[in-house]
Amino acid sequence: MKIICIGRNYVEHIKELANERPAEPVVFLKPDTSVLLKKQPFYIPDFSNDVHHEVEILVKISKVGKYIDKKFAHKYYDEIGLGIDFTARDLQQSLKEKGLPWEKAKAFDGAAVVGKWLPKSDFESVNDIDFSLEKNGTLVQQGNTSHMLWKIDELIEYVSKYFTLKIGDIIFTGTPSGVAKVKANDELRGLIENNEMFKLTIK
Ligand code: MG
Repeated sequence: MKIICIGRNYVEHIKELANERPAEPVVFLKPDTSVLLKKQPFYIPDFSNDVHHEVEILVKISKVGKYIDKKFAHKYYDEIGLGIDFTARDLQQSLKEKGLPWEKAKAFDGAAVVGKWLPKSDFESVNDIDFSLEKNGTLVQQGNTSHMLWKIDELIEYVSKYFTLKIGDIIFTGTPSGVAKVKANDELRGLIENNEMFKLTIK
């Protein structure tokens, strides 16, 4: 199983990090070892003093495919989820400045929260899904998939040019604005519309 992540897919988030708007999707991978085990807290790693939460809509691949046309992309997934792309922002910043890959900042153990899954058929359109993240009971991130620069089906077309998609692979589709540092004892709760998709404690 592999996790394919999209960066800079929401304009407001690009602005908050003062990044350039990309001409093509920004893509990186997380290994299966980055998935935070169910019901486990997230431990802030000792190599960072600035780990940020990035709440993201997830797509689980249900069929093997390569060079998938966006017209047929909807046939390759039937579940939608919610997760967090934890990011060691301080480390990512220094890697970015040197033009180096981001993996140490984004692919470490526990850096991928994968919550519950909902059938795609629950949604009238995957391009109009509201999702949010609460920290200690306060809304901190809020998004709607209609605001993605590249929509889910376009992302599947794009990433499948480079990687064969296999059953069980997960796509993290990018975060809206509101990313911020997590601290010990924070409680994070992710929602798709009114469904609680995950809840976890920071240690
Ligand atoms: Mg992200």
